[in-house]
Amino acid sequence: MKLLSVVVPCWNEEEVIPFFYKEMHKTMEEFRVSYPDTSFELIFVDDGSKDRTLSLVKELAEKDPCIRYISFSRNFGKEAALYAGFENSKGDYVVCMDVDLQDPPALLPEMYEAVVNEGYDSAATRRVTRKGEPLIRSFFARRFYRLMDRICATEVVDGARDYRIMTRQMTDAVLSMGDYCRFTKGIYGWVGFRTKWLEFENIERVAGETKWSFWKLLIYAIEGIIAFSTFPLEMMSWTGGILTFLFFVFSVVGGIFLYLGIWPMVPLIIGVIGFFSSLNLFFLGIAAWYLSKTYLETKNRPMYIAKEMT
Ligand code: UDP
Ligand code: MG
Repeated sequence: MKLLSVVVPCWNEEEVIPFFYKEMHKTMEEFRVSYPDTSFELIFVDDGSKDRTLSLVKELAEKDPCIRYISFSRNFGKEAALYAGFENSKGDYVVCMDVDLQDPPALLPEMYEAVVNEGYDSAATRRVTRKGEPLIRSFFARRFYRLMDRICATEVVDGARDYRIMTRQMTDAVLSMGDYCRFTKGIYGWVGFRTKWLEFENIERVAGETKWSFWKLLIYAIEGIIAFSTFPLEMMSWTGGILTFLFFVFSVVGGIFLYLGIWPMVPLIIGVIGFFSSLNLFFLGIAAWYLSKTYLETKNRPMYIAKEMT
């Protein structure tokens, strides 16, 4: 027998859980026919929900023995929820999937086939369209992936969803990366392994609302860059070096012009001072961002705290 663990992070998802379970149940029934030697373990990770999410999950768990759950003491974020799910999964293969049906369970047989019979270590999904998403969000998302591609050694695929299946070996590799400030999309790329990419059209969530505001996404993007690239830090020193040289030349020329009395110095000096104090502050800010992440990593805090679990 093979065990397939499906990790589902949920934060205030009472509206979508019934839909999700219905779809998932259908997929599990199909599996029973096409892969009789595979059984399921459905792990709901309640990320500190304030609504009826946990009680709904508990109700389902009473009816269906393949359901397990972990409930956090507060909201720790989706990345922590995924980590907890992986850590507590027992499957030979592990899947992570959103609860809002934006990651269609119907794709699961194809993903499973890739790792079981086609020799891949992982099968991941990416959406090829961003239909239904606010335009400004799509625009910045595209920029972000392009930037990541340029400055990170690790590949982060444009439009990649967190919906994927992995072998136990790859799951353990992901777990061995104990980053406290987690950026799972980068971690998948960093650990390597052979991944098959499946594409699908964007699907809007069945009910409820997205948990990601534009600002939350922007911070997430910046943290992703910090977690997987030191380019911003290096850029500071390069820019500093180039500017030092330019201003050495500028001072010499300025000195000569001043001596000749032909340069309107005051506005120029104000401009230059203003520019450089802002640039300093900006660069100091970049360094501070790295410092704050380093600080958080060194504290060795647990990634999550479970209040209840099966
Ligand atoms: N989620 C979570 N903790 C959070 C935010 C989100 O567990 O702090 C879960 C959420 O319940 C959902 C998944 O992560 O199952 C993706 O969230 P959402 O659909 O809001 O994100 P989007 O698809 O809009 O990027
Ligand atoms: Mg969603």
